[in-house]
Amino acid sequence: MSSTISTGLKKQVAERALFCCEYCKLNEAVSFYSYHIDHIKSIKHRGLSVFQNLAYACPDCNFYKGSDLGTFVEDDEHLTRFFNPRIDEWHDHFEIQDGYIQSKTSIGEATALIFRFNDPDRLIFRKELSALSLYP
Ligand SMILES: [Zn+2]
Repeated sequence: MSSTISTGLKKQVAERALFCCEYCKLNEAVSFYSYHIDHIKSIKHRGLSVFQNLAYACPDCNFYKGSDLGTFVEDDEHLTRFFNPRIDEWHDHFEIQDGYIQSKTSIGEATALIFRFNDPDRLIFRKELSALSLYP
């Protein structure tokens, strides 16, 4: 299955996100790496390369998410989907406290867990940026 995304579409996705990762809210301008175009519903699960299914994502979030759609947070029987920037409001599911991304819902918890939002390296970096008023 093709995952070709035109340069114009990539630009539209980046601009819609204001050049911030739509998951962890880190701005690309303060990142050491170029950001990725994420398929919210992965190609593996028949997600399409269309504007509505694409998100701007930092390499960490995109890598840890992979082709996953959710995980188990409350028990081992019910899958909890990840935060979807096309249908969910970020602040409904998360809040930021001194660089730490706190989950407010099970969707937020599933996302923060698998995307490793608060891994030590990422947290230290965001805390430093926060102190400089560069995050969020
Ligand atoms: Zn991110």
